[in-house]
Amino acid sequence: MNKPFYITTTLPYVNSDPHVGFALEIVQADIIARYKKLMGHEVFFNTGTDEHGVKVYTKALEANKDPQAYTDEYAEKFRSLKGLLNLDPDIHFIRTTDAKHKAAAQEFWKRCDAAGDIYKKNYQVKYCIGCELEKTDSELVDGKCPIHPNLEIEIRDEENYFFAFSKYGDKLLALYDANPDFLLPAYRLNEMRVLIKEKGLEDFSISRLKSKMSWGVPVPGDEEHVMYVWFDALVSYISTIGWPQDEETFKKWWPVTQFAGKDQVRQQAAMWQAMLMSVGLPASKQIIIHGFITSAGQKMSKSLGNVIDPSKVVEEYGIDALRYYLAREVSPFEDSDFTMEKFKDSYNGNLANGIGNLTSRILKMAETNLEKTPEIPEASIPQDWIDAMEKFEINKAADIVWKEIAALDALIQETAPFKLVKTDKEKGVVIINELIVRLYAVGRMLNPILPQTSEAIKALVKANKSPAAPLFLRKE
Ligand SMILES: [Zn+2]
Repeated sequence: MNKPFYITTTLPYVNSDPHVGFALEIVQADIIARYKKLMGHEVFFNTGTDEHGVKVYTKALEANKDPQAYTDEYAEKFRSLKGLLNLDPDIHFIRTTDAKHKAAAQEFWKRCDAAGDIYKKNYQVKYCIGCELEKTDSELVDGKCPIHPNLEIEIRDEENYFFAFSKYGDKLLALYDANPDFLLPAYRLNEMRVLIKEKGLEDFSISRLKSKMSWGVPVPGDEEHVMYVWFDALVSYISTIGWPQDEETFKKWWPVTQFAGKDQVRQQAAMWQAMLMSVGLPASKQIIIHGFITSAGQKMSKSLGNVIDPSKVVEEYGIDALRYYLAREVSPFEDSDFTMEKFKDSYNGNLANGIGNLTSRILKMAETNLEKTPEIPEASIPQDWIDAMEKFEINKAADIVWKEIAALDALIQETAPFKLVKTDKEKGVVIINELIVRLYAVGRMLNPILPQTSEAIKALVKANKSPAAPLFLRKE
């Protein structure tokens, strides 16, 4: 088994505090990283921060800070997600301002250049400052970026370096044809096919004039330009595993499984893949695209006052409560709603009354009636749970756990072992043993999803003790 598995999130841009949308992405990736470890893989789990570009530069200037000092502060905020969300302790954290990363981005540029894929030209484009992306007319709605309808599209006229993206249409189509699971959900791959076949690919700008915006990786051999933030940030997926100086480590981990939001499909599945082709590196292994989190059907925004701060939720309900909602109540692939009302209902129904109550009931019976913990089988995770995880269907895997929780509740209801032990001790003990073994299997399945709860259940079962306090306190 022991097979290396490399998984990464996108690198969030450090112009605002971590929001629940990124918490979703990183918790999803954490669940898969923990799942792969559970299955015996050696895992490299990567996240980090994307720190260059005009948005960060502007924010730093507004705050009257040096951009490096500004990004240092934000990088710490994102790094603190590790504790806040109880992420895998071995998670790697790369910053695009790391010296090694900047050197890698420059080497990557040189190799694209050597492949004949970089050229300079005068350029006038429509640009969304919110996305940090050029927009073609077909991507705009009423002349505005559909993701950032409040921002004016900028018209830019300057001499820049370009990447010869248009060369790669057929090669990308061949990549998709050879790997039907390259993008999940599958319809996203069709969207890319349609884009390439019907609209074609346009070369994109990969530099900015330093005189206008100096906060970027210097372009090798041209002091007047810095790299376009996307170009540099994408290279982080390989610089974090040692490319180019540590070939052995790079080869051990590559290719990568990527998590990204639905606004990232073109960058991750096409632009980044073409860049890899340009320097002669294998494509990513798979890209998992998640939807956005809405609040009562609306986009979360400061002006609407409906932004959910993950740290507040954790403070009030605990880490596993937030992880539970993101894993089970949020679709792995589609837009999903998150309101505190729904959150509380789900918390009370499925955590306080569900797993929390069940754990207390079973362990109380065990503590009272069993001499010791029954023998726990080596493997007790059902195949359908594994199948769901393999397909990144995290909510389905969680459903399987809660179906088992319901089944155990029903078994207690039907057989009333706490009464049965008074009339037929042997029969009652057999049922309690079965409940304990199945509760332990629930603990195992919760390992990637609710790590603290999983540990608590397994430890209590082994100690044959009922919990001193409920695992999840009911909230009024
Ligand atoms: Zn935009």
